[in-house]
Amino acid sequence: NRRRARYRNRMRQSQMLIPTLRDVPAEAEVVSHQLLLRAGMIRQVARGIYDFLPLGVRVLRKVERIVREEMVRAGAQEVLLPAICPAELWQESGRWEKYGKELLRIKDRNGRDFCFGPTHEEVITDLVRRDVRSYRELPINLFQIQSKFRDEVRPRFGLMRGREFIMKDGYSFHVDRADCDREYENMFQAYRRIFDRCGLAYRPVEADTGAIGGSRSHEFQVLAESGEDAIVSCDACEYAANVEKAGIGVAASPASAAVTPLDEVATPGHRTIEEVSAFLKLPAERFIKTLLYVADDTVVVALVRGDHALSEAKLKDALGTPAVELAPETTVERVTGAPVGFAGPIGLRGSVRLLADQALAGITDAVTGANKADTHVRGVSASRDFATAELADLRVATAGDRCPRCAGHFVLQRGIEVGQVFSLGTKYSAALKATVSDAEGKERVLEMGCYGIGVTRTIAAAIEQNHDDAGIIWPMPLAPFQVVVVPVNIADERLRTTAERLYAELTARGVEVLLDDRDERPGVKFKDADLIGYPLRITVGTRALERAAVELKRRTEKAATEVPVAEVVARVAELVAAETTA
Ligand code: ATP
Ligand code: MG
Repeated sequence: NRRRARYRNRMRQSQMLIPTLRDVPAEAEVVSHQLLLRAGMIRQVARGIYDFLPLGVRVLRKVERIVREEMVRAGAQEVLLPAICPAELWQESGRWEKYGKELLRIKDRNGRDFCFGPTHEEVITDLVRRDVRSYRELPINLFQIQSKFRDEVRPRFGLMRGREFIMKDGYSFHVDRADCDREYENMFQAYRRIFDRCGLAYRPVEADTGAIGGSRSHEFQVLAESGEDAIVSCDACEYAANVEKAGIGVAASPASAAVTPLDEVATPGHRTIEEVSAFLKLPAERFIKTLLYVADDTVVVALVRGDHALSEAKLKDALGTPAVELAPETTVERVTGAPVGFAGPIGLRGSVRLLADQALAGITDAVTGANKADTHVRGVSASRDFATAELADLRVATAGDRCPRCAGHFVLQRGIEVGQVFSLGTKYSAALKATVSDAEGKERVLEMGCYGIGVTRTIAAAIEQNHDDAGIIWPMPLAPFQVVVVPVNIADERLRTTAERLYAELTARGVEVLLDDRDERPGVKFKDADLIGYPLRITVGTRALERAAVELKRRTEKAATEVPVAEVVARVAELVAAETTA
């Protein structure tokens, strides 16, 4: 009991390290970064590397706990892999070369190469190939919650994009694709429960598989205007996807207009669609953008309408290749015979693969580069001038586009990617030769899924979604404390004893409560309470106490209500329970 009393003692603001700041720190660009610093939850140690202070750790542990409970509930087992990984494993998968500068490489005293793990497909596959030998031990789903390191180019958004950050990464192994698909669905549902329990507004969206590779993927996006990712969702059905990936329904093709003759025009120095469209006084949708890529050593020429953006994710899908790269200037000059900025589909040299976005089907009288310096060509028609192009869905989706599943249209939203689930196929298991013998004694390469959650990014996303001018507005399940008790004058014996009593009773009811016992003016305490963002505040003041009452205020509401002292504990416990699900 003495230990317990000591523990309780620490939940007093006067004793805790909560260094709140009045001013917005200059280095913080996004709201979550500003508020985490101002609320005394984190401090920067180096670019993209942070200390977590006591309040920050409390929030962190809450996210971790929800993630851990739901992973275990879904049948996954917790492991802990090393942060420092030997280069050999990464060489086996080929990622030692491919991962680039984001991979922090280090040497030990003997000059052996290691990296600080940015993700752990190699390490987990190595574990499983050594210790799982038979199909009878499958399926297996292993996860960990651990610090990762990615040497990001621009680690400037606090916990949103750190260099060192905490991730939950999980990996599952299966004898066949069907079982892997079943687990994918299982994880998808677990992720739904996790973000529901965090109290966040989010959307699962179809996503590109990116550098991790694989065949199928969903991102979980916390909706926030400040989000880095653009997502579209259908206004009529459940379909939602990253704009890079969203399938676009084909609208009825317009009645085809007459094919007009080609006509070259001088466009000296005007290269971009904006420049040429201003110069020729024609709207961007009358143009065809011609982009040159290299994929699998082949030059790929992709055409999209001038007002559309090419999606590299879709281009990769259309080509069935894992990576595309913009062609270097020398390649552009060789293939078009012109400097960069004047490419078009007519008269390309050498062998190229030509693809056109489906929106260009049937286009007539369009403008594009003439493959000649300072020249564009008008009157371009799909049926005459690039009839051999493969038609595909190549462009980034936007508001108003047709849903691929129904007659609905897309609404555009912004989101923060807090999690992603992938079906990886055999990419890593084949490279690392992770096999088991099946029922017939035949060796089988394992099918693999992987499932990540940005634990620290989820904290930032929660703030980006829930804040106002005064500070953070924590959803109840993530709040560092569910309620703060503020005696307006700590020197006043009556106020102090009432506050102490409420603190003890709330604690006994299992409510997470902080007592602001600092010898500060009420204004200072209220400002800090709003900044830190406790969902509930109990104010113990002289006048109300004369009526045997205190004030109860929700962080989301402007006004407080007076509640009898005798009832406030039960009322608070009720509110907390209503907004927390186990
Ligand atoms: P992004 O596209 O934002 O760089 P990613 O797709 O490369 O992220 P994953 O490899 O899918 O990231 O990692 C799993 C999760 O880890 C992500 O969904 C994200 O929430 C989180 N995460 C990734 N990079 C960072 C980072 N630099 N800082 C904080 N969290 C991160
Ligand atoms: Mg991702």
